[in-house]
Amino acid sequence: MQTTEQPMLKDIVLVGGGHSHVGVIKSFGMQPIPGVRMTVICTDIHTPYSGMLPGYVAGHYGFDAVHIDLSRLAVFAGAHLYQDEVIGLDRINRKVLCRNRPPVGYDFLSINTGSTPQLHDVPGAQNNAIAVKPISHFNNRWLALLERVRRHAGKTTVAVVGAGAAGVELLLAMQFRLSQELRKLGRDPADLTFHLLTNHADILPTHNLRVRHTFDLVLASRGVQVHRNAAVTQVTAGCLQTATGELVHADEIVWVTRAAGAAWLKDTGLALDADGFIKVADTLQTVTDPVIFAAGDIASMVNYRLEKAGVFAVRQGAPLARNLRRSLHGQALKPYHPQRHWLALITTGDQFAVASRGWIGFSGEWVWRWKDWIDRNFMRKFQDLPAMVAPPKPVPAAPTDPARDPGRDRGS
Ligand SMILES: Cc1cc2nc3c(=O)[nH]c(=O)nc-3n(C[C@H](O)[C@H](O)[C@H](O)COP(=O)(O)OP(=O)(O)OC[C@H]3O[C@@H](n4cnc5c(N)ncnc54)[C@H](O)[C@@H]3O)c2cc1C
Repeated sequence: MQTTEQPMLKDIVLVGGGHSHVGVIKSFGMQPIPGVRMTVICTDIHTPYSGMLPGYVAGHYGFDAVHIDLSRLAVFAGAHLYQDEVIGLDRINRKVLCRNRPPVGYDFLSINTGSTPQLHDVPGAQNNAIAVKPISHFNNRWLALLERVRRHAGKTTVAVVGAGAAGVELLLAMQFRLSQELRKLGRDPADLTFHLLTNHADILPTHNLRVRHTFDLVLASRGVQVHRNAAVTQVTAGCLQTATGELVHADEIVWVTRAAGAAWLKDTGLALDADGFIKVADTLQTVTDPVIFAAGDIASMVNYRLEKAGVFAVRQGAPLARNLRRSLHGQALKPYHPQRHWLALITTGDQFAVASRGWIGFSGEWVWRWKDWIDRNFMRKFQDLPAMVAPPKPVPAAPTDPARDPGRDRGS
C-alpha cells in the first residue's frame, strides 16, 4: 500500500481482526490508496469464521479451514499487524493504547472487537465455566476435553448455558464429535450426558416456531436434557445452581449466553448502549467521534436493532471500507442499511442444517451442503489471495523499537 517514494499522509488503525475488518483489509489490499498506512492490532493472528466453528468442533473441518490468517492478509494489503490487546484510547491525541506496546497514532480508527461474555454476572462462573469467546481460549479447552474424554474410561457430563443458535449448535457439535470419538475407541456414546440450560421458556427464542420445534425434536432424539426457565444463579466446581434451586452436575460447563461490550470501552468517552456496545450512526461512524468507526458485534446501530450475528459483521465490511476511503478523501459518507430479515443456517452436528428466516423454516442434509458451499466460498476469498511480495511476519506481542511504531512516527 505504501511505497518508499510516497509521503506518509494518513494512518488508519483497525482494532480487532473480526469479520468486518478482514473485508476492509482485503479491500485496501485490492485497491490501495497511495500514502495511506494501515495498522491492524489484534489479540489473535487467526480470525475464526463463526459460521464454520460448530463444523470445526464436530470434526468436519480442520483448524485452517475455519480460520483467516491475518498475517497473510496483512502482508497482502501491505498493512502493519501488531499482535496485542487494545486496552484504551487517548482520543485527544488520537492514539490507541495497547497492553504491550507504545501507543499507536491514528487519523481514522475502526473497532471490530466482537462481544465479551458476561461471566462475572453469575457468582462462580468466571472460575468454573468456559466462555465460547475468545474462541482461541475455548478451542484450547475443547481440545483438552476431547483428549480427556478419550483417555477417561467413565462417564462425562457437559452442560451448555445459553440456548440461542450458538449454544444449541455448539452443544450438538460437541455431542456429535465426542460420540464419534467414543465409537472409534469401541466405547458406548451413552457414557456422555448433555444438559442445555436457558432462562427462557423456549430454546432459540429469536427464531420462528417451526425452527424451534425442529430443534426440540432433534435435542429430544439425541437425549439432551433441556432445562427451561432455568436461570443459572451460581456455579461451583462441577455444579450449576438455577433460580428454582435445581442442581445440575457437569464435568465441563460452557457459557454461551448473550454477551456485552468490553470493559475498556467505558473509559473511552464513546457513547455506549445499555449493554456496553458502541453506538454508531448509519455511516458506521461512532455517534461521539466522526473519525472513529465501529462494526460487527461491538457496534450498536442507533437506527436499527440488529441481532449479534456474524452475518451482519461480514456485511458491514464493504460499507465500512467504502466510508473509510471516503473519509480519507474528505468526501461525504454513505449510509449502510442492513437487511430487515436475514437467513440463519443452523447446524445439528451431523451434516444436517435448519434454515430460518422470518417465519420461514426448512431443513435437510442439502441445507447443510448449501451452507458448506456458502461458507467455503466465503473463506476462499481470504485464502486464495493474489501473489504476495514477502513471507508473512506477524509482529510479536512484546514491545518493539518505538521508532517503527506509527504513534511514535507521528510525534508522540
Ligand atoms: C458457536 C458459535 C456459532 C456461531 N454461528 C454463527 C453463524 O452461523 N452465523 C452468524 O451469523 N453468527 C454466528 N455466531 C455469532 C458470531 O460469532 C458473532 O456474531 C461474530 O463473531 C461477530 O463478529 P465480529 O467481527 O464482530 O467479532 P469477532 O468475530 O469476535 O472478532 C473480534 C476480533 O477482535 C479481537 N479482539 C477482541 N478484543 C480485542 C482487543 N481488546 N484488542 C485487540 N483485538 C481484540 C479478537 O481476537 C477477534 O479476532 C456464532 C457464535 C458462536 C459462539
